[in-house]
Parts: sequence; structure tokens; C-alpha cells
Amino acid sequence: MVPLPDEQLSLDVLASETITQDSSPPPEVGALTELIRKGYTNGRRPLFILGAGISFGQVPLLSDIGMWLKEQLSQLITKESDLWSDDSWMVEHAALLGEGQAGRRQTAELFTSLQTGAKHAQDVWRTFSAAFLKSDTPWPKIAFRGVASAVSTPAHAHLADLLLLNKARIVSLNFDGLTIQAAKELYKKDPSNYPTKGAISLHSESDLFHYFATSAYEVPAAVVKIRGDVFYATCKSETCPGHRSPLPIERVIGNHKEDQDSLICPICQQDSLVLTFSFPGFRKKEELAHPMLWAFRRFVAANTACVICIGFSGKWDKYLLDFLFDMCSEREIPLVDVRPPDQHDHNLFDDFRSSYFPNCPAVPEKQLERHTSYTRILSEADPFMHEMHHHLTK
Ligand SMILES: [Zn+2]
Repeated sequence: MVPLPDEQLSLDVLASETITQDSSPPPEVGALTELIRKGYTNGRRPLFILGAGISFGQVPLLSDIGMWLKEQLSQLITKESDLWSDDSWMVEHAALLGEGQAGRRQTAELFTSLQTGAKHAQDVWRTFSAAFLKSDTPWPKIAFRGVASAVSTPAHAHLADLLLLNKARIVSLNFDGLTIQAAKELYKKDPSNYPTKGAISLHSESDLFHYFATSAYEVPAAVVKIRGDVFYATCKSETCPGHRSPLPIERVIGNHKEDQDSLICPICQQDSLVLTFSFPGFRKKEELAHPMLWAFRRFVAANTACVICIGFSGKWDKYLLDFLFDMCSEREIPLVDVRPPDQHDHNLFDDFRSSYFPNCPAVPEKQLERHTSYTRILSEADPFMHEMHHHLTK
């Protein structure tokens, strides 16, 4: 996939018919969109699960973070070899992460030591926090200059439009807030286009209960963030309430002004925010996500037409894979896995299915119908969402 130039406005794609920059044929989505359109007549909507792959080129993946840490750590270890004599393993762990080869143990050890270890390690983390939020120089291998200036992709814009039109539900595993950003821009441009009152994100079980149990007649569309607080921001000032309750990153970015050099704590207004990374592979982290997934399932499972995962590797989220296959089996609906053709671990979903959900047959897209089944569509997120949007809004 060709990353978008910084200045390209992704929202313009809704007005244009041409979006794919390469000449590969659009992905086959005829049976899928037919199934969803039938669902609309019975009040059922597709549920999109968004993984890191949808923000590809805009926001670093875990492997990009590994590359960044490897470069920083190897420079420091050469320069200050005495100080780092016990910590040279960190470079090796970071290199493995950068190559996509690190397991849960190495990843967890690396992030824990950087955030809670010796002062020199924590200093690296502070530099990383700053570069992650806003960077003056691009990252290695990716034109990224901080989450604060990340721009939503065409896929985000197409999803946001479907969300605002009440034609899709979205669960996001990402911390970047790019779907909400796209939805806010679309809504601001022309609120009369939409039956909803803009869009918000829901971060907790109690957010979900209040949202779905509301008696209000007009409500905003919602993006449900599961595990979207993998990265969150904590205020370093001990007297500030932001020190005790971490803030979702997207809420911090929402307050960010272009001319600011660093991110300001929205509570105490000081330049004192630091990133906290809670690694998704931690069992505890996954268990915390479970009550929220179940609360969501209670409200939406009965009116879901199918589940469509985009850019979600499943590598760190076996709990979520299990949850999704279980929900699709119980409700007798298809699970669709959309991923780029060249992804090296693309059998993971299917291996999990054949081991634990043999009742869920793998079928080609053309044979999709409303029963328990699994389909893989090999496509980048942008051309896939372009086709989906085209068929679901005509
Ligand atoms: Zn503060």
C-alpha cells in the first residue's frame, strides 16, 4: 500500500470514484454486501472490528515501535556503555520486536523495564513518549510525525460515513482515534446528511450501559474502544487528578493545538503528560477487555448481520478471536477477515478456527450466506472499504 502524502485530505475520497492508486482489481464483495443489504431491511448492521492495519502508514505498528527503540537503545549503549552494562538485552528484544519475531515474554519485559526500570531506561521512554505524540523528524521506515498529526485514511472516511448513516457498528482496537476524527470532520461538513448527532467513542463498560440504555431520541453514533487504551497518557504531576486516572490518548490529542510543541495535560494545563503503554498481550489486559466485550454483545449481537475484521492480526488477541468466533457461531452469522495479501502470519485466524471452531466452515466470498462461516478477503483496507461503501450506499 502506498502511504498517503501528509497533506492529502482523506475525506475527499467520499466525493471521488477513483481511490485505488494501483491497478489491481477491486476485491470481490458482492455476496457480502448483498447479505448486509438484506440485514438492513431487518434492522441488522455489520460489525466492523478495526485493528492496527487500518492505520497502516499513518500510525506506527508495534514493529515500527521496536525499530525506533532499537535505534535509540543501540546508540545509547555505545555512548554510555557503563550505565547500560546490565541492559544490553533490551536492544536484542527491541530488534526482535522490530522484526515481528518477539514473543509475549520479550515484549512484556522490554516495555516493563522501559517504563518502570532504572532512570536511564525511563529517560528513553520519556523521549519515546514525546516522539510518539509529536516528532520533528520522521520515524525509521515510516512517514510518521506523531499521533497528534496523524491523518485518517480513506478506509477510515468510508467507515465513518457508514457509521454516521447508521449502516455500521464499529469496535476499534486502536488508540489513534482516526475513525472518530474522520466522523467529526464529515459531520461538521454537512450535519444534515446524517440521522445521527455526530460521533463519540465509548471507553468503558459503564460508557456502554449509559449509551445503549439511554432514553434520548437522537443519539450520536459510537465507536466502541476495546483495548484502545493500550497507549494512554498519565500526568506526571502527582497533585493532578490526571496522575491517578490515565486519559485515553485520543482525548488528549483532541485538545492539542497545532502550534503546541508538547502535549498539555487537559486537567492541570501543564506540560506534564507521559505515555503509558499497557501491552495487549498481557493476560490481565485481555481479561479486562472481556466484560466490555460482553456488555457490547448483550446490546448488539441480536441485530448484527456479520462481523468484519480489518487489519486485525489476531496475534496478540486470542481472547478476542475466541470471543468473535463464539459470537458468530451462537448467532449463526459469518465472520469475515480482511487482510493484505502479503501478510506473513495470515493463517493465524484460520488455524484458530479449524482448531477451536470446526463447526464454522471456511467458504469463498461468493458463497457467503447468513449462517456460521468464515471468509478471508485478501485486500488492503482502502480498496476494500471503497467497494463496501460504494455498494452499501447506492
Ligand atoms: Zn495534569
